[in-house]
Amino acid sequence: MELEDRLNEVRDRIRKASAAADRAAGEVTLVAVSKTFDAEAIRPAIAAGQRVFGENRVQEAHAKWPQLRAETAGIELHLIGPLQSNKAAEAVALFDVIETVDREKIARAIAAEMVRQDRKVRLYVQVNTGLEPQKAGIAPDDLIAFVAFCRDELGLSIEGLMCIPPADENPGPHFALLAKLARKAGVARLSMGMSGDYETAIAFGATSVRVGSAIFGTR
Ligand SMILES: *Cc1c(COP(=O)(O)O)cnc(C)c1O
Repeated sequence: MELEDRLNEVRDRIRKASAAADRAAGEVTLVAVSKTFDAEAIRPAIAAGQRVFGENRVQEAHAKWPQLRAETAGIELHLIGPLQSNKAAEAVALFDVIETVDREKIARAIAAEMVRQDRKVRLYVQVNTGLEPQKAGIAPDDLIAFVAFCRDELGLSIEGLMCIPPADENPGPHFALLAKLARKAGVARLSMGMSGDYETAIAFGATSVRVGSAIFGTR
């Protein structure tokens, strides 16, 4: 199957899952995760009308996206991987959305860079819903205070929450927890669901899904 067919199948399944969950058409944004794929492999997705992409490494994104952006207007780039504060300047310059804010130090670095570069980047907080030691993200119990810190101390508005459920667990309870935390924190958007579980995530209220291998193939 060609990339365009796989992309259309994902789009179709998003539409059907949205309808099944009584969600309005277009309420769920597809973030096409292009990590590990080079510009050549990404161009067919852009040609098929995809504009929102996710990358998990600043360095890798920097190597391919300035050129791809120069070729096509309206690209929106999301950082979905962990961010080190020494990369904050580059991340703020390159990405439109950073989905992985998860500690005070990185929030401070992003806030400072947004002022220095006079550039606004949309922000999500990553939540470690499974409390996995190897995984990035703030603990669910610390989320409300962290969102308040970002808003009140740093003047950052947090647009959404993001999670990656443990690979070996039913994702539903993790998606439900993220939705509950978002309601409590007064945060509007939910980035949850990947190739294996994006329809489930939509049923639990995802406003964006991050789909890689179902579009680009196995990595
Ligand atoms: C790689 C990645 C995805 C996409 O995963 P697939 O299973 O290939 O769809 C989504 N979110 C994050 C944070 C990722 O790192």
